[in-house]
Amino acid sequence: MPIDPLACPGVCNRRARRAWEEYDQAVIDHAEAMDIYVEKHSMYRAAFAVWHPPLASPPIEPREPARPEPPAMQVFRANPVWCRRCPRAIRGALYQINETAAVLYADITGHRSAVITGPNAGRKPLNPTEVIELLDNVYGDLVEVAGYWAEARGHPFRPLPSRGSHARNITISYLLGELDNILLHPGSVEFGGKVLHWERKLLNMAKADPASRRSPIRCPRCRDRELYREDDGYFKCRSCERLLTQEEHDDYYADEVDEYDHEQEAHVS
Ligand SMILES: [Zn+2]
Ligand SMILES: [Zn+2]
Repeated sequence: MPIDPLACPGVCNRRARRAWEEYDQAVIDHAEAMDIYVEKHSMYRAAFAVWHPPLASPPIEPREPARPEPPAMQVFRANPVWCRRCPRAIRGALYQINETAAVLYADITGHRSAVITGPNAGRKPLNPTEVIELLDNVYGDLVEVAGYWAEARGHPFRPLPSRGSHARNITISYLLGELDNILLHPGSVEFGGKVLHWERKLLNMAKADPASRRSPIRCPRCRDRELYREDDGYFKCRSCERLLTQEEHDDYYADEVDEYDHEQEAHVS
């Protein structure tokens, strides 16, 4: 049985989707176990029918396998396409994509110090070809959606065929402005999934970048994206001066990625 057909396709139902997948598998396993049980039970009945004292001990009755329980956890309903929470995650991911792409682009185009110190000293710098390829893929997807949407709506917006920050800013601003309406459209299930997927890819790449001092994550205290790696290896928030060790930073990073981790689940239901 699939998850509720009215379920939101977003991250909110990730655990529920997993639970229902496990339940489906448990139902299959149970059916197989029942076949074996029925066969064993008829053998048992046949053996019991001929058993009588003083034969050693009566045959042992096989136990019927327990039927799996359907998951009881809450499934968030979509209205009409997403729940109330997921559009906020998608909006946040679009901002995050824009910021992280800018950080990565600045790194490979040399607008940023290439001197690597601190805990990442000696790590391999990013491969510019890989960065460009990722940025192009991300931008290509965003431009495609923005272009279709503008055409369908008769908006004069025409995305620029360039990978620079300016073109990306314009496209993402347009998408952010239209996002509420886009997310009412059934076709936005794929779009939302992609946005969350690209966000995660960019965050992973930015994290692997030793030249980048700016962290892609939010400050755990003030929520600004102003965490920079200092020479002593700590991360410091330029808004509220909060300090994080590398380890704390990586924990928060993992939380933030996990929050938006959508890759596996985006197209399941
Ligand atoms: Zn949702
Ligand atoms: Zn802060």
